[in-house]
Amino acid sequence: MKLDILAIGAHPDDVEMSCGGTLAKEIAKGKRVGILDLTRGELGTRGSAEIRDIESKNAAEILGVSMRHNLAFADGFFVNNAATQLEVIKIIRKYKPDVVLCNAVDDRHIDHPKGSKLASDACFLSGLRRIETIHEGNHQHEWRPKQVYHYIQWKDSTPDFVVDVSGFMDKKLEAIYAYKSQFFDAESKEPLTPISSKNATDSMEYRNRNLGRLIGTEAAEGFTVERYVAVDSILDLI
Ligand SMILES: [Zn+2]
Repeated sequence: MKLDILAIGAHPDDVEMSCGGTLAKEIAKGKRVGILDLTRGELGTRGSAEIRDIESKNAAEILGVSMRHNLAFADGFFVNNAATQLEVIKIIRKYKPDVVLCNAVDDRHIDHPKGSKLASDACFLSGLRRIETIHEGNHQHEWRPKQVYHYIQWKDSTPDFVVDVSGFMDKKLEAIYAYKSQFFDAESKEPLTPISSKNATDSMEYRNRNLGRLIGTEAAEGFTVERYVAVDSILDLI
């Protein structure tokens, strides 16, 4: 199966929080979208790896993605090296995405910039034919995604471009709230974390609404780029 878009996240829920609206919009247009989680988020203060496995499966169903895979690297301790790059390369070569969305380049959680660089490096290396990979018994061919974009996470980074996600905020929030163990839940007895406060979930929605306000739409999600954004026609811009 070939994907149009592969969204890669260090932890299950990174993708939903940061670019869930963009993915939902492309899926509604008939595009094939997949999610690759690097870890199971087992160091998270709330919930557990098993609970997050179930929550991430539910979130994937809500968004309607074509595939979701978890590489089960060590949460907090995974490194960006040949071994981890090769595992990501195998997934890129298997699904051949045109666009890869990945973690924020700079962020509060140390796994986010690490995951960002790992995904970006793997996208480049995946295009080198002399790197041989065998996945599920098949010799794989090189594949380099056309674009790598970084979604914005905890920090208020300035986006290089934004995607209008008007009409898709309900779907995004539904996917986020599938992670009941992680986000605001007035009934929960678990310790509070930065993302489990009511302010955190309200802020996620507000930031999208605010980006929408700035471009004259209902809501938007922001991304940063590794090279100039190019458009075929100046009329493509909204
Ligand atoms: Zn994360």
